[in-house]
Amino acid sequence: MQADTLLHLLEHMDGMTASRDRERLAEHVASGGRELIDAQFALLHRVQVTPHGYALTPAAWSVEGVGSSTADVDRLESENESLSADPLLEECLATSEGFACEEHGGDIRLAFAVGGVGNAAAVFDARTPRMPDTSAVECLRHFLRIYEQQLRMLDYAELDTLTRLNNRKTFDENFDRFISIAEQARRVKNGDRREDVDSDKMTRPCWLGVVDIDKFKRINDNFGHLFGDEVLLRVAEIMKKTFRTSDKLFRFGGEEFVILLRHVSQDKAAMVFNRFREAVEHYEFPQVGQVTCSLGYVQIDGALTPADMLGRADEALYFCKENGRNQIACYEDLLAQGLVDAPQETSNADLQADIDALFD
Ligand code: GH3
Ligand code: MG
Ligand code: MG
Repeated sequence: MQADTLLHLLEHMDGMTASRDRERLAEHVASGGRELIDAQFALLHRVQVTPHGYALTPAAWSVEGVGSSTADVDRLESENESLSADPLLEECLATSEGFACEEHGGDIRLAFAVGGVGNAAAVFDARTPRMPDTSAVECLRHFLRIYEQQLRMLDYAELDTLTRLNNRKTFDENFDRFISIAEQARRVKNGDRREDVDSDKMTRPCWLGVVDIDKFKRINDNFGHLFGDEVLLRVAEIMKKTFRTSDKLFRFGGEEFVILLRHVSQDKAAMVFNRFREAVEHYEFPQVGQVTCSLGYVQIDGALTPADMLGRADEALYFCKENGRNQIACYEDLLAQGLVDAPQETSNADLQADIDALFD
């Protein structure tokens, strides 16, 4: 291996092990992997297990002489919600070698599974004019194994063990990212900033939803904790099916879930949240039968803290609980209708009055 190739490889590995950001990690893998086999183009696909098998979504790409980037999953999803199956990728995921290749317009296309059969986390998909030599392929396989181990470590730290949704610890970090997206949307809308993006979509707000299962204590009491846990697992599966991969889903402990919804109009947010509520309502839970849930949501606002926003979504949730359960409620709507109290603003004058009172 040449010294500059080794240097690049080490730089990518340095970046991979230093970052806890899955998107940056994917970008390092796409470009590091491409350089290792001297390919022109590489695409890293994320594999997600679905109730019907698995779904592949682009995570990052790298093109020789052009650069690398995380894939614009949002845009791909909006154009084509269910990405069509690709026979080569399917083959590489199904074989024990975790590898498949084909001729493609005079080039060779190679696909490597990251992880074992039935347990793959990603697929590395590259296009090259000639077959790389065995040692380069071996290097790539080791490189992909390091990526897999890195992903497993992140999963262990960031996912809830029962449902495999994001855990509570990761909320603040993800929320910060949504705050900057919401702020960017606001700036584009105000015309403060010209963005080379789908500006119509970018001006749509982001939303925070809080879900609580109705009368869950009764499920535990009547059927036992194991069936209670099974309900939590199934509700999480319904969530994964209902929301897009660019939305973020969390289990906050117990039977409370949180959703961060990206760039949708208020009507669409209501539609999506309601679709989830209905899917739970119409699902036949093993032994338990029907289960319902309530959901409160609020528009993400960069001026508020995560705790404030969660508090507002909780108020909307509480309203659902007080008014019959199995429903959704939007905080802004409740506020406009005078159904929740206006939030307490702590002005500088109030703060000064409090300080003055302390020294009286
Ligand atoms: P409500 O409709 O008002 O929400 O009624 P509820 O019975 O669901 O009330 P609440 O949300 O307060 O109940 C939460 C219950 O969830 C209490 C606890 O026994 C149960 N629980 C919390 N964590 C777990 C868990 O990990 N597994 C199981 N099986 N039950 C849990
Ligand atoms: Mg609860
Ligand atoms: Mg509950």
